[in-house]
Amino acid sequence: MAHIKINAQDYLHNLKYVSNLANGVEKICIVLKDNAYGHGLETMAKLASKFGINKACVKNSNEAIKIKEYFNEILILSDIPEFICENFIIAANSIYSLKKIQNNSKIHLKINTGMNRNGILLSEANLALNIIKEKNLKLKGIFTHFSNADILDCGFYIQKQNFLKARNFFNKFKNISFHSHNSAALLRSKNFDESFARVGIASYGYHDLLSIFGNFNLKPVLSLYADKISTQHIKKSQKIGYGGRFEAPKDMIVSTYDVGYGDGLFRNFQKTFTTNEGKVLGTMNMDSISLECQKDEICVFNNVINLAKEYNTITYEILTKLSLNIKRVIV
Ligand SMILES: *Cc1c(COP(=O)(O)O)cnc(C)c1O
Repeated sequence: MAHIKINAQDYLHNLKYVSNLANGVEKICIVLKDNAYGHGLETMAKLASKFGINKACVKNSNEAIKIKEYFNEILILSDIPEFICENFIIAANSIYSLKKIQNNSKIHLKINTGMNRNGILLSEANLALNIIKEKNLKLKGIFTHFSNADILDCGFYIQKQNFLKARNFFNKFKNISFHSHNSAALLRSKNFDESFARVGIASYGYHDLLSIFGNFNLKPVLSLYADKISTQHIKKSQKIGYGGRFEAPKDMIVSTYDVGYGDGLFRNFQKTFTTNEGKVLGTMNMDSISLECQKDEICVFNNVINLAKEYNTITYEILTKLSLNIKRVIV
């Protein structure tokens, strides 16, 4: 059966790497949204918690509930849950969402420093504080998100400057954490001084920083494997699969493996999907691919950087698309 192998050693290597940059494991908030970027939410939560990380970020309350026993604080990024546990913190992404959040909840207030998707403007801070007071919300943090942390762009510095202003404004409140850094911002930072960094992609072994920012010793954690279903002896000029899009140029031994677009791979006529064992012959099926190979088990990929380039996307998209149904095993 197609399965995902999670290399625990490489994951711990990455966690150590980012903990060093952040000046301590307690300064890492591990981002586990979208099934831990396809790696498996509970699997990764357990490993991160065992390593000593005590904060996590998720997308919604369903994810938060699944990992509630592993972390002291769980920041829910884009959901207004009806059910709240003691260790849940809700991201207040706007005045609109502040109004919807349940009274008495713990919140981190997002500041729009220039990405212009979510967050309140500093000019709305007093309005936000009034709502917070009215609803007895517990303001535990102030945060923002960078739009251009992985490229050379002045927007990054403008956002930093704007966040500093927010930090100065909210500094008068006690016991508030301040956080803005994602993986890219942490990797390029020289003297990290915030409460914690929200680290996603780097923990899984990837980054999109330009090479001018340096080399980073990160190791991809996930690899995808598939098992053989059958082997066929194909004669020269016979065709394989839907639409007969592949015609054998010679007599060939071809096997079918149990992975396909139903598992989250890309079916694309223009670009033949390439596995570690070679190109997919003909059309990719929902649940299978054909390769010129006879191995019982094949590695589809153990690094998605080249696939991301080939499909004009980012590693995040390839990883998060991996189906929930694929079995995840720790090696
Ligand atoms: C996804 C996300 C992150 C993590 O970003 P990476 O680039 O994967 O490190 C951090 N903060 C917020 C608000 C996010 O949505």
